[in-house]
Amino acid sequence: DDLRRNDQLDEWDRGSFFHPSTHLAQHARGESPTRIVKTASGVHIEDRDGQRWLDGFAGLYCVNVGYGRTEIADAIAAQAKELAYYHAYVGHGTEAAITLAQMVMDRAPAHMSKVYFGLSGSDANETNLKLVWYYNNILGRPEKKKIISRWRGYHGSGLMTGSLTGLEMFHKKFDLPMTPVLHTTAPYYYRRENDAQTEEQFSAQCAADLEDLIAREGADTIAAFWAEPMLGTGGIVPPPKGYWEAIKPILERHEILLVADEVVTGFGRLGTMFGSEHYGLEPDFITIAKGLTSAYAPLSGSIVSKKVWEVLEKGTDENGPIGHGWTYSAHPIGAAAGVANLKLLDELGLIANAAEIGAYLNAEMARALADHPHVGEVRGEGMLCALEFVEDKDRRRFFDPARKIGPKVAGELANLHVIGRAMPGGDILGFAPPFSLGREHVDEIVGSTVKAVRAAG
Ligand code: PLP
Repeated sequence: DDLRRNDQLDEWDRGSFFHPSTHLAQHARGESPTRIVKTASGVHIEDRDGQRWLDGFAGLYCVNVGYGRTEIADAIAAQAKELAYYHAYVGHGTEAAITLAQMVMDRAPAHMSKVYFGLSGSDANETNLKLVWYYNNILGRPEKKKIISRWRGYHGSGLMTGSLTGLEMFHKKFDLPMTPVLHTTAPYYYRRENDAQTEEQFSAQCAADLEDLIAREGADTIAAFWAEPMLGTGGIVPPPKGYWEAIKPILERHEILLVADEVVTGFGRLGTMFGSEHYGLEPDFITIAKGLTSAYAPLSGSIVSKKVWEVLEKGTDENGPIGHGWTYSAHPIGAAAGVANLKLLDELGLIANAAEIGAYLNAEMARALADHPHVGEVRGEGMLCALEFVEDKDRRRFFDPARKIGPKVAGELANLHVIGRAMPGGDILGFAPPFSLGREHVDEIVGSTVKAVRAAG
């Protein structure tokens, strides 16, 4: 029976299932067979044939507390039995959603005020974007609407959020980016054009590029600057020295709101509760998702500052209720997962572990591979680590796209039963493991990566 079901799954997978972010023609030709994941526990996933992998990317950097946490599963089951759904529109709410809001705000930077719950990082960014426009309309400056994000930023796959994303793969043939989104220089020191620049000089150039763009467009047309505290999907790139210190005064001078997209960095991935703390940011909006529930159920959040909240209240006094809500806003099952997840993060000291083991992972990866002729750079922060591959290290020359080795390395690594991710938009292998990772797992990831790089290079 199991065998027949297995065959059937392959057939249904090819016949009916539309995979996200996938080369559809290759999949249809059977060139990218589907690893059908059946169960998982701790830092390991297991497929339908009982093969196991150490998941060095925590799903899509989201299963932060690790797999198989019965505390969260039980909380979800209990919520589903007691109250599977009720909405939070005017005059209603649920215990789970209200409790989670309080827990999020207890952990958020002190100048933040309220959290609005959605389902995905994309829709939470969409909410923040609408609120940015609403804010400027209420303040009587309807022309201040353009948004600046960075090349290599990742903010989602929707129409506007895919536009904010600064990776060509997510724009191509979709007619994105839409107006009024503009992109500025990525804070990506390793890919700087000018070899002679120090990190600080490169940061100053990023700031000057931003100033130029603002001057060209007119500061009174720019509403917000959208950024991950540290670039994630665009390459796992910590900002160069002095970057945020150079950017922040520009935003303040031109009254440009800062939206910190903390979908990856929120709830501990950099070893601090929020990436904003890590880099000394005081954002007007924070976007959260993944780590809010460790992906045990879909839930995201848009956190607004006190400054923004005052204007939103004024807006509703003048215009009536905010016309923005999803059926599943603040879904109680997601909220119950979030409550149990944030409790676990605290009780098990998982953020401190992310800081400690993340530092060990980055140090070990650098020790083992920084001198390899095809490894241009080993970089990371907290529980994020990446290798950037180059054809010629001295000249910082990359393989041309058809020959890049990141996907090959990821394939070899999977053969060794470790998962790393070939990052879109570069020749980069990324790691973002669960926070429950141990030193022995780091040793396995690094040892296997060394073998995989040797096999692919
Ligand atoms: N923002 C960032 C920084 C992300 O990394 C992601 C997803 O990886 C998103 C937003 C979009 O989140 P989702 O895929 O849940 O829509």
